[in-house]
Amino acid sequence: MNAETIFKFKKLFEMQRRELFAKGLGGQDFHLPKDETIDDADMSSTELEAGMKMRLRSREALFLRKIDEALQRISDGTFGDCGSCGEEIDLRRLEARPTASLCVHCKEDQERQELAHIDGHKHKSLGRKLRLIESAS
Ligand SMILES: [Zn+2]
Repeated sequence: MNAETIFKFKKLFEMQRRELFAKGLGGQDFHLPKDETIDDADMSSTELEAGMKMRLRSREALFLRKIDEALQRISDGTFGDCGSCGEEIDLRRLEARPTASLCVHCKEDQERQELAHIDGHKHKSLGRKLRLIESAS
């Protein structure tokens, strides 16, 4: 990947990072005390709102981590390389998902493995259903 393209992504990540911080992430109120547990059953609307804010913030925190990791890869000189096979990630993929750390093939492999795992469970219960139908007939 040429320096100009990397610079473009660096600018993008820095902008996204600033936006996240502008929303208040990283502020003092980000970490709730650990002993503050919320009982789902009698949650007031204020508490619900706080809960929703927290979920949003944890999603933003995850996004921020991905941006930081991408910026780290830029400074390491590995940005745009697949974290699994080391091949260059397709630029179109990076433009669609700048924080991607796997090439499309490795990502597909990963998703296929996850699917295969789910399918394995599905087939087991399907097999049982078939046996039930057989024994009923
Ligand atoms: Zn790969």
